[in-house]
Amino acid sequence: MIPAAFRYERPGTLEEALRYLAEPEAKALAGGQSLLPLLRLRMAEPGLLVDIQDIAELAGIQSGAREVTLGALVRHVDLATSGPWRVLREAAEATGDRQVRRLGTIGGAVAHADPAGDLPAALLALGAVVEIVGPGGRREVPIGEFFLGPLMTVLGPDELVAALRLPLPGSGSGSSYRKLRQAASGFALVGVGAMVRLEAGRCVDAGIGVTGVGLAPYAAETAREKLIGTVLSAADVELALAAILEGADVQGDPYASSEYRGKMCRVLAAEAIAGARAEAQGE
Ligand SMILES: Cc1cc2nc3c(=O)[nH]c(=O)nc-3n(C[C@H](O)[C@H](O)[C@H](O)COP(=O)(O)OP(=O)(O)OC[C@H]3O[C@@H](n4cnc5c(N)ncnc54)[C@H](O)[C@@H]3O)c2cc1C
Repeated sequence: MIPAAFRYERPGTLEEALRYLAEPEAKALAGGQSLLPLLRLRMAEPGLLVDIQDIAELAGIQSGAREVTLGALVRHVDLATSGPWRVLREAAEATGDRQVRRLGTIGGAVAHADPAGDLPAALLALGAVVEIVGPGGRREVPIGEFFLGPLMTVLGPDELVAALRLPLPGSGSGSSYRKLRQAASGFALVGVGAMVRLEAGRCVDAGIGVTGVGLAPYAAETAREKLIGTVLSAADVELALAAILEGADVQGDPYASSEYRGKMCRVLAAEAIAGARAEAQGE
């Protein structure tokens, strides 16, 4: 289908972009990998597309002593091939195909809030912070509070994701992503990202992000808490897995029943935790 008519602007500065976004029916366009299909299906009909790809303030990766700031325009391909977080590399590599990874951006992937998005699960496991910019200035939202539902976030219509901030992995840290693909689309029927940090064989920090299961990607907080302080024995992990669906409205559809999704969530979480632990132990 041909998209409905729209005006197109390609601002060079953040200030200019925010001015355009303040107009009614304006929508940001980054890599276009989710928005353009919606336009073609006429599931979205914005009057104004604000193409943000030239805005230098939204681009690039900045490393600090304790954390790294990934600009909203950082592409999946860059996340897949570099960076110290294995869970993010694996989630980016598992996203779509080569063309999608070449064009899609991290800002678009979180702002779009696909209930089966891969990057959100990795970012939830790592405890990312979303930097948001709008007419009122800048604000920060922990990623666990960012997703509200299918394609819904805390972003206002006139706001942009400016960047994602991630803590650098300390020594003894490891992370991993596991995904069960829907055969035709390649999207996650279930995806789980896990991060653990070990000190003297004991888990002192952890994170688990789940996608494809509920109405939005979520952080499995109780499961994460149950890992901390343990030696990640089979019994410790089993206790955590029993809580992984807590608070999730587990979805069923023709591709996977809610029972199957729930079961596969526990299977993939066990694998992701094992992968994270192996990396943390230098394996
Ligand atoms: C064939 C195909 C296969 C795919 N497979 C997968 C997959 O396996 N896993 C997966 O997770 N995803 C998959 N995707 C989706 C895709 O990877 C991401 O959703 C997409 O890359 C989003 O980033 P973008 O830059 O393309 O965003 P766009 O499409 O440009 O925008 C998406 C939405 O985010 C908003 N937006 C974009 N950037 C910002 C910003 N900085 N601030 C505020 N709002 C913003 C837009 O207004 C729009 O609403 C697939 C897509 C295609 C076409």
